[in-house]
Amino acid sequence: MKKKLGIYIHIPFCVRKCAYCDFLSAPAGEETRQRYVERLLEEIRGAGNLSSTHRTATVFLGGGTPSLLTGAQMDSILETVDQVFGIPAEAEVTAESNPGTLTEEKLRAYRQAGINRLSMGLQSADNRELQALGRIHTWEQFQENYELVRKTGFSNVNIDLMSALPGQTREGWLSTLKKVTALEPEHISAYSLIIEEGTPFYEKYRVDGPCEKELPGEELDRIMYEDTKAYLHKKGYERYEISNYAKAGYECRHNLSYWERTDYKGFGIGAASLVDGVRYQNATVLESYLKGTFRYESVEPLNEQEILEETMFLGLRKMEGVRLTDRIRSNYGDVIRELTEERLLEQRGERICLTDRGIDVSNYALAKFLLD
Ligand code: SF4
Repeated sequence: MKKKLGIYIHIPFCVRKCAYCDFLSAPAGEETRQRYVERLLEEIRGAGNLSSTHRTATVFLGGGTPSLLTGAQMDSILETVDQVFGIPAEAEVTAESNPGTLTEEKLRAYRQAGINRLSMGLQSADNRELQALGRIHTWEQFQENYELVRKTGFSNVNIDLMSALPGQTREGWLSTLKKVTALEPEHISAYSLIIEEGTPFYEKYRVDGPCEKELPGEELDRIMYEDTKAYLHKKGYERYEISNYAKAGYECRHNLSYWERTDYKGFGIGAASLVDGVRYQNATVLESYLKGTFRYESVEPLNEQEILEETMFLGLRKMEGVRLTDRIRSNYGDVIRELTEERLLEQRGERICLTDRGIDVSNYALAKFLLD
């Protein structure tokens, strides 16, 4: 039987760079975007041999801002994926999008091209917070885009949110949660802001930076995190991964494949793959990619120990945890005992999973599963 395959396609373009963002993305003109799409099609065609051993389960266009692509560009990518790998009717096909880049015509074309799940990068429902983040949209523009998304027939929608923003209060965050859940998206991702080196935010908000005090402190960050869990639960969203919440049956199948370590193949600059126990990392330089001199930055066959470690620290991110096997018992017996005594881990039937307390200190708990 063929193995399941998740297909990831990286679109590294944005209207402009947000002040906190260290993703592989940058503004680029139309001509660059078109050349990039052409190279993508070549890269996808070059991977056709995988289709003899794998079948497509999910496709995910991430970025950057994939919704900068025209309907025709999106169509050519998905058409090529379909020709090379096949996209079954039941496959989940997601595109990330940013408010301010969507039109009714584009959304109709995306639907036509086969996208059946749309992820929208909102981050906050407060215009001052959006402005501070350097986002291109307002809450009102998001609402208009969201209406178009529903009008054009998207019935599986994710909204990305971010807490612990500069100047954000507990009430402000609760107000964002309230406004967003009133729209009833099927899925919500809620992360805390991380101050990444090399970004304008790092200059201002790093530890001992000039504006560090404007960030909510650790205690308020923790309160917002607890509010997120409680509020979304009350509104009918089940947390299925540390930062991801969904209505029943709307968990993101593509992201689950990362945590469950089923095979995935990435296309475009910086994209990662895991195929038959080997990790591949695409090179990140746009200019070389556009010239057609595509290469991997690394190819790393994983040994048994690395596979086991990944199974644990990725699988335990999910609320349902991992299935307890003899190998896990023999390699991690002591760790499991220790974390269970600390009430950070618990056994539920044949599975082990982090407790609420364990999730709160997940960095500490998951690091225990690194064997060296
Ligand atoms: S839209 Fe997303 S990927 Fe683009 S710069 Fe902003 S945060 Fe980064």
